[in-house]
Order: sequence, then structure tokens, then C-alpha cells
Amino acid sequence: MKTVIHWFRRDLRVSDNVALTEAVRRAEHVIPLFIFEDAFRSGPDVGAARLAFLLQSVESLRKNLAELGYSLVVRNGKSSDLLPKLCAEFGAQAVFANKRYEPYAQRRDEQIAGILLQAGFGFELFKDAVVWEEQEVLTQAGKPFTVFTPYSRAWKTHAIPAAKPRLGRREGRGHSFPSDPLPASPNEVGLPLTQTVPPGGERAALELLRRFMAGPVYDYGANRNFPAVDGTSGLSPHLRAGTIGIRTILAELNRARAQATPAQASGCDVFQSELIWREFYLQVLHNFPHVTKGAFRPEYDRLAWSDNQAHFAAWCEGRTGYPIVDAAMRCLNATGTMHNRLRMIVAMFLTKDLLIHWQWGERYFMKQLVDGDMAANNGGWQWSAGTGTDAAPYFRIFNPVSQGEKFDPEGKFVRQWVPELAGFADDLIHQPWENPLLLARSKYPARVVLHEEQRGKCLAMFKAVKTGAA
Ligand SMILES: Cc1cc2nc3c(=O)[nH]c(=O)nc-3n(C[C@H](O)[C@H](O)[C@H](O)COP(=O)(O)OP(=O)(O)OC[C@H]3O[C@@H](n4cnc5c(N)ncnc54)[C@H](O)[C@@H]3O)c2cc1C
Repeated sequence: MKTVIHWFRRDLRVSDNVALTEAVRRAEHVIPLFIFEDAFRSGPDVGAARLAFLLQSVESLRKNLAELGYSLVVRNGKSSDLLPKLCAEFGAQAVFANKRYEPYAQRRDEQIAGILLQAGFGFELFKDAVVWEEQEVLTQAGKPFTVFTPYSRAWKTHAIPAAKPRLGRREGRGHSFPSDPLPASPNEVGLPLTQTVPPGGERAALELLRRFMAGPVYDYGANRNFPAVDGTSGLSPHLRAGTIGIRTILAELNRARAQATPAQASGCDVFQSELIWREFYLQVLHNFPHVTKGAFRPEYDRLAWSDNQAHFAAWCEGRTGYPIVDAAMRCLNATGTMHNRLRMIVAMFLTKDLLIHWQWGERYFMKQLVDGDMAANNGGWQWSAGTGTDAAPYFRIFNPVSQGEKFDPEGKFVRQWVPELAGFADDLIHQPWENPLLLARSKYPARVVLHEEQRGKCLAMFKAVKTGAA
């Protein structure tokens, strides 16, 4: 092929990029393109923090490409309208891109393939974001997995492909196609950015990976549950934006593991297992797309959730009166990030203490999170609510006090985000109501509900579905 457009989407990098590698191998000229979709400005999934991270990552991509002699073309609009016109304008025969797995994105890609084909252009999609996709890992009966442990075992029996090489320097003269300007910040498209988000771009991702593999990965198993400890990789926004390739992470993990003591190797294995959870939920999304609309187990769509708006607002704003829940929500609102342990705690609290539908929480997370990803978010919410694949059983209800005491034993994380509680000793920081006088002086809110009471209501709510009474 003479000219191919490489359409960057969730693969904003020049290393370990499958479709880009193929484009350069098969075409004489490759035009790198990014479309700032109309849908990035509004819609249920749009969030200012994620958009800020995306904009930074596109800028970084533009610089990385320029250093290699490529000029990134940016256009604003709707991909299905723009792509056939751009093929004609650039004299391209085909568009290459890496595959997306969300049902809406797959429908859009099918539509685009049809439009391009009709206009006489090719459209090729490549597996890039995951090691194993869709139906590549199946049970012995040929069915998609719904339980993680056997999925993970089967996932590991396949050899992991090597990372693709970094894009090489471009020879000869480049093109001079014009670009549209990108918004400088989400504020410009009417999405006020109130959060301080982590730095985007491929270099930031590779630096995070380097630092994590140089030490923290070895203690990952021991540290990963403690929000006040910097014990996890922080790679999720990069995996979501595609500023790092999964094969690169796994190759570095392999290298780290080869130098590890047996105890350290187990940290590496736990980390790999988390990366497999990511692929588990992506295959759930593909094979059971109904999870985007309701419970994986449809009988749980009959649960009689509460629609208490005041409780929901207290949860969103971090003023439920439960310190670990409030600290986690305030951290999310200020940074667009939240530790995995805390995500489980606040999700359980919303669904099993406040008895509010997991979809309300799922939507709120998508608005706030820098790493907001349909598959992992839906999987995490349905796991916590007890409605999903391999979910926590409905009667497993986290106690927010004992979770706080166990995973933030000195209250370090709580003190960082709930300064009203600074004066409480370690043994009271997770249950400040035990000192009513100090609580009244602190201005910290009283509990919106009593955990012990709500626990019983939650069990009754699930039981009603189980016995067919709901
Ligand atoms: C209610 C809820 C909602 C969640 N929403 C999201 C989301 O929108 N986007 C998202 O990327 N993750 C989500 N997770 C999973 C997890 O909390 C984050 O991936 C993790 O906190 C990211 O931090 P990290 O990169 O430091 O993770 P690390 O601990 O360093 O893990 C490495 C990578 O493994 C993957 N991973 C780790 N845990 C999980 C998991 N439980 N499920 C799927 N993948 C995982 C992520 O890609 C992560 O970057 C959610 C979990 C819950 C309980």
C-alpha cells in the first residue's frame, strides 16, 4: 500500500503499538491522525480529569512523533464523517487502528468499516490493548469464563507475545496536512477541571514503569492494600489511554521476576494477576455486553434499591460520617484517582450500607476517574455489589470501621483527606462517634446511617430476590 492513515485512539504511544508497527511495515507513507471526537465534549462517560489526561497525552504523542520525523494531524469532528474525507484528502488507501472493546465502540467501528468500504477504502483493526482478547481464552467446553481463577490459569498457559519495537525515524520528506487546534484544557469545552491529575504521555508512563519495577513490585503483595503506602504502579490511566503497551509491562515484569528472590517473585505474580483481572473484565464486557445495562445475574435487576438523593450526595461529597469512606471520596474528587482497596470500600458502602444502585456509583466514578474504564469500572462495581461475575457474595459486607482499622491502621490516609479528624487518636480515628464531645467540636458530620442497621436491611433486600419475594 502506498499510504495508510494510522488512527490513534486508546494507543497514544510510539512504542509497542501493533497497528502502527503494521502500518509502517506495509505502507510507504504513514499519516498519524488523532480525531478529537465531538463525543469527547459531552455524554455520560465524559469526565474533565480523563479529558485533561488525554489532552496531555496527545501533546506528548505529537512531540514524540515529531522527534521521529512524523507530523501528527489533529482534526475535530465525528470519525465516521471525517475518515472517508481524510482518506481522499491524504491519498490514503486504508485506515489502520487498534481494536476497542466497549460495545458502543465496536458498533461504531463496524459502521466505519462499512462507510470506508463503500467509499473504496480499507479499514483494519489490530489486537493491541490486551494479550488475549474476546474469545481467545475459553473454558474446556468452549465457553467464556465467568470465574477469575480458572480464567487466570488458562490465560497463563499461552505464551506472551513480545513487545513491538519503537517506531523508527521517518526517511524522506514529511506531509504538510493542516491540523485543527486541540483545546488547551477541558475548561475550553465546558468541562470545568477541578482536579489535579497525574501527568499523561508515554514518557511519564515509562518512567512510572521503570520506578515500579526497580523495587516496589517486589513488595506489591504486601503493600498493595494500604492506601497510605505508595505500593501500586499507578499505571491504570496509562493503560486506559494506551500511553503504555501491555506487552512492554509484561516484558519488564518478566525481567524483574528473573532477578527476584522467591519472596519477591510472589510480589511479581500478584501484580501479573491484577493485569489479568483487567483482561478478565474486558472479555466479560465482550462476551456479556448486557453488563453495561444491568446486573450480570439478571435476577439482581429486581433488587429494591434506595433512591435517597441526600445519602447519595453525602457519599459523593465525602460527608457520610464514616472516615475511610469520606477520605476516599474526597481524594477522588480532588485527584481523579482512588486506591483499589478504597474503591471496594466505598462501592460496598454505597450499595450495602446506603442501599443505592451500583449504577449510580459506576456513573459517578466514570465522571471523576482519570482511569475510568468501562470494563474495569463495571466489573469492580458489580463485584462490590455482589451482582457480577465472580462477585463478592451478597452477604459479604465490608464493615467500614474494621476496613479502616485494618488498611489504614494509624489513620494516616484519613488524616490527609479529613483534616477535621486530625485531633483524634489512632484508636478513634475510624470511629470518631465514640468521643461525642470531640466529634461535636470537630465539625465532622454525624453518620448518615448506622452500619449495623443497614447490614440487616441489605441482607433482607437480597434475600427477597433469592426467595422470589421481589
Ligand atoms: C468499584 C471499582 C471501580 C473500578 N474502576 C476502575 C476503572 O474505571 N479503571 C481501572 O483501570 N480500574 C478500575 N478498578 C480497578 C482498580 O481499582 C484500579 O485498576 C487500580 O486501583 C489502579 O491503580 P494502579 O494502576 O496503581 O493499580 P495496580 O495495583 O498497580 O495494578 C496494575 C494494573 O492492573 C489493573 N488492575 C488492577 N486491579 C484491577 C481490578 N480489580 N480490575 C481490573 N483491572 C485491575 C489496572 O490496569 C492496573 O493499572 C476499579 C475497582 C473497583 C473496586
